[in-house]
Order: sequence, then structure tokens, then C-alpha cells
Amino acid sequence: MNWDGAAPMSKARHDDPRALLASYLTQLADAGEKDMCLSAETAALVKGAGPSQSVGPTAAQTPEKPREMGTPEKQREIVKPQKLSVPEQAAMLPELEPTKIVLALGRGTADPDMFVEASCLRSCTCLNEIERISLACEKCELAGTRISVVFGAGDENADLMFVGEAPGANEDREGIPFIGRAGALLDKIIEAAGFRRENVYISNILKCRPPNNRTPLSNEIEACVPILAKQIEIIAPRIICTLGLPATQTLLGVKGSMGSLRGKVYVQGNLKVIPTYHPAAALRDPKYKRPMWEDFLRIRKEYDKL
Ligand code: SF4
Repeated sequence: MNWDGAAPMSKARHDDPRALLASYLTQLADAGEKDMCLSAETAALVKGAGPSQSVGPTAAQTPEKPREMGTPEKQREIVKPQKLSVPEQAAMLPELEPTKIVLALGRGTADPDMFVEASCLRSCTCLNEIERISLACEKCELAGTRISVVFGAGDENADLMFVGEAPGANEDREGIPFIGRAGALLDKIIEAAGFRRENVYISNILKCRPPNNRTPLSNEIEACVPILAKQIEIIAPRIICTLGLPATQTLLGVKGSMGSLRGKVYVQGNLKVIPTYHPAAALRDPKYKRPMWEDFLRIRKEYDKL
């Protein structure tokens, strides 16, 4: 399965002719090419690709017979290009040197003791207890405009967690994160990368909707982030994917653009943080789809190492 609109990774390993060929054939397949005429030498290279770099059917798998093209040296073979599987695409990503971090959530500003129901939040041992506290929260002015507190959803034992920015109108109405258009796109990418929504956990840095979906204010983030810190402590994910700039900056405690912060793996102990664009950004501008897909391949690759 591939995510609609997602291109395969843009960089093949330049020292591996099979990898380069695989990348090229995949691009042709994405462009709608169904049959390709390859030189005997190139076809032999395709046949020789190992399972992890398979780019098309081998001779035994290819129903078409070789097409005679004059002299034997000019013989050509019909080879149907085939998209690389997600693990194959992920395996082709270069290894990254992890960037060590200390999560901003653990630096004190998000200390649960700062929360209005401090002792209650600190003593929570399951998500239901945290949710009960957050449903009654009036720590910032968003309590006055919200319909619902959108706490989070998914598997309490998930190894993979997504953290977005804040609920939108649909989420505010239903009390469930990521169910609007951006949520539908996120679901699609999650599935395309080989995960299932019910097996991951999804939440936001803010649990209440900012009016007109404006960017969260720093005092709102500071007020709300202890809930997220406690969620992360209980769930103990191995990988967190931050969706968009506010979530990325809040967790990493750094400034910078998404372009400069993504494409890296941040590590704190057993936890890896992999930032990517918010799906709403990809809906607004398709140019974000390719880097987003590459970030999801990175998530897949790191997840498969767990
Ligand atoms: S956004 Fe967070 S801190 Fe503000 S009222 Fe909602 S739950 Fe409380």
C-alpha cells in the first residue's frame, strides 16, 4: 500500500546501482508506467536484486517472454516496475546520527506539581485518572470557549505516539483528536506506513480548542503541557512523532523552522522523537507530502528496530 500522493524516497544510495535502479523504477511506477523495455544488462541487474532491494518481477515471475530486438546484444526484456514495499523503502533510508535531547517536558516548566490539581495529577497511575482531571480543567481561558476537552485516543500501551497542536472544530465537537480532514489524512499515512490507528496513541499539546484554530499561546501551552507530560509518562512510548511546529518546539524545547527540525531523530534514553509536518500543512500545500512520507518511513525504520 502506498499513501496517495506520497512519492517514494527521493534519495537512493548513490554507491549502490541496484538501489539507484530501484528508486528509478519506483518513480516510473508512480508516474503510471506499466511496461518498460530494459537492456539485457539492466534486466540482469534487476533479476540480480536481492529480496530487500527487489524492484520488479524476476524472469521466473515475469509472464512476458523476452522480446527479440535484432542481434542478441540488442535484446530487450519487458519488466513491469513494481513499487517498493514500505519496509524496503524504509530500509533504504540512510542511518542518522541521533541528536541527544532532554525533553522540554522534563525540564520543570511542565512539572505536574505546577498543575492546579497538582497532587492529583502527580499521583495518577492510569490515563483514565488523568482524563478525569483534565475534563474539569479550567487552568487557562480556553476552558471558557471549548465544547469538549479532547484528551487523546488510542492504545494506552502504544510504542508509537503522535502529538499534534490542538483540537479543531470537529474534534472540539466530538471530543476525539484528529477526526477532521487533517485526521483523515493522518489515518491514511499511518496505515500506508503499516501501522493501525488503534495501535498508536494520538493527542495534542492543548486539550481545548483555541478560538478560530489560532496558534496556541505560550501561557496556554505552559498551563496544559503537564497533562501531556503525564500522558507520556503513563504510556511510555518508544517513539513520539510530533506533528507541526508548536508540538515539535514544545517537546524539544527548541526554536527553529519545521524544515530545520525535521529529518532528524532526537533521542532521550529509550525515547526517540521524530518531527514531521502537521497533516493540515500537507492539505494546504502538497509539497509537504513527500518530506512527510519520508518522515513516516523513518518512523517505520526506527519502529522496526524496537
Ligand atoms: S487547554 Fe489545557 S490547561 Fe487550558 S483549560 Fe483546556 S485542559 Fe486546561
